[in-house]
Amino acid sequence: MGKSSGEDDNMADAVDWDSEIINIVRKYALQNAVEYDGAGQSGSVLGRILGERPDLRSKARELKQLVEIEVNDANEMAQNKGITEVRELLESISPEALNRQKQVKRTGLKDLPNAVNGNVVLRFAPNPNGPLTLGHARGVTINSEYAKNYDGKVVLRFDDTDSKVKPPLRDAYTWIEEDYKWLTGKEPDIIVRASERMEIYMKYAKKMLDEGFGYVCKCSAENFKKLRDNSKECPCRMKDPKENLSDWNEMISGLLSEGMAVVRVKTDMNLPNPALRDWPALRIQHTPHPMVGDKYKVWPLLDFQSAIEDYEQGVTHIIRGKDLMDSTRKQTLLYNHFGWEYPETLYWGRVKIHEFGSFSTSGMRREIENKNYSGWDDPRLPTLRALRRRGFDSDAMRDFWIDLGLTQKDISVSLQTIESFNSSKIDSKCERRVFVRNPQIIRLDGNNVEIERKLVLNKHPLNEIKGHREWDLEDLDIYIESTDLGANEIRLKDFADVEIRDSVGIIQSINRTDKRKIIHWLPKTIAKKAILTIPKGNEIIIQEGMMEDIEIMKNSIVQLERVGYAKIESNDDVVKLLWLHG
Ligand SMILES: [Zn+2]
Repeated sequence: MGKSSGEDDNMADAVDWDSEIINIVRKYALQNAVEYDGAGQSGSVLGRILGERPDLRSKARELKQLVEIEVNDANEMAQNKGITEVRELLESISPEALNRQKQVKRTGLKDLPNAVNGNVVLRFAPNPNGPLTLGHARGVTINSEYAKNYDGKVVLRFDDTDSKVKPPLRDAYTWIEEDYKWLTGKEPDIIVRASERMEIYMKYAKKMLDEGFGYVCKCSAENFKKLRDNSKECPCRMKDPKENLSDWNEMISGLLSEGMAVVRVKTDMNLPNPALRDWPALRIQHTPHPMVGDKYKVWPLLDFQSAIEDYEQGVTHIIRGKDLMDSTRKQTLLYNHFGWEYPETLYWGRVKIHEFGSFSTSGMRREIENKNYSGWDDPRLPTLRALRRRGFDSDAMRDFWIDLGLTQKDISVSLQTIESFNSSKIDSKCERRVFVRNPQIIRLDGNNVEIERKLVLNKHPLNEIKGHREWDLEDLDIYIESTDLGANEIRLKDFADVEIRDSVGIIQSINRTDKRKIIHWLPKTIAKKAILTIPKGNEIIIQEGMMEDIEIMKNSIVQLERVGYAKIESNDDVVKLLWLHG
């Protein structure tokens, strides 16, 4: 295949690609053309190249042009000479690319340290202040995968003891259980709500005071910090257990208002990290709790609650963000007081998905309450509910997170990576349909060329879904996209070469005679009004058009030819389609 020139070639010419890069691009272009039956897409090819060669990311813009040329060439070859020929060429260049069969490499997870088969307990502990997001999916996936590998258990623990800053949302408990089940295909082994286990935390708090390794501190936060930062003990530290218990009773009876006292864990005022010195374990919180009401005046802080609960549940391995290393240190000091052994702890770095930069659960909650989003499943949001609604596959999502593994590096990934995992899971299950955007009517003129009056098309190009779609061509009015009107000579996909003159399409040949553009089209008799909703950043784009009215099944995902994957959300007077990805 030569480097034929396209209309935007200037930039590509500016970069002199070496043959190694051209070969990589060609390999993926051919591979994609084979996988998508001559309809390879430059976006997905580019994604794979950058996956193999992250060093090329800085040149992605220039590379994209080379990719487009090679993808066009590969697609044309598939359409002109047939898929078999493309397959053979690919095999001669890179047999492994052919055998890959859409399987994406799976690095898997490294072994857990000191794990005993059948005796591993992990936990996933979200704050139920909203449903799960794409980021949470990592915790669910990694923990449940390890539990599976070691015949262990996962505790789903709701860390819901903050009723003030990030208060729990009543419905979120059920949503999270649903999200968990969707993602893993099974229920969590154990479900625990911290707010229902207050008596346990109170018992341990009292024990700390009784045994003298905790105390009630009535210093202001500011004063305490001043002392602490200078490695000085505060006066409260000297109190005996009796005094502490009397102060504790004041706290829990509600006599003291918020901020007037905390329970601290005695550590060492000379620890190098000031944050670890006599850290706070429980505080006064009078804001009623959405599930428990105002029954408790004192609530544990997360480090204390989490530490106690890990012990109570027999957690053997904790997997958490590296930003929580201080929590591990604080909790280890507490465990030492109690004489417990701290679980094995593993860390991961942050993962940022470009397209979903700065969403937080509490931020989304506010925006939904302000009606800036239609709900937690608004397709612009990174919640699992939204991704599920659009048609993302739970296996693909898990593959993506397992593939990333447990690295401590901070990583920035594009949603395209998840989309390519998703394509490989769903493609063989998605029937093809035509959707013509901004449709224009063309009347076909037979021009004495003999044409079939019935067109039989595969439901899936590689026949992975058996069956056909039959197009009746008795009436010769057809729709094409208005943007395709620009060219005078076009090829109607799977049908004929046509010349367009004043809204008439004169059929020139049934066989493909040259390299003219191939477009999708639709006979008017089988066209139904449809709208496609596309989430794009913070926008919603609506595209109107006509869809092929053959077996339109609600909730199924179809691949719209030359457009991309979409979910059929309803099929009433108008078909409502929701964009999945290209
Ligand atoms: Zn104090």
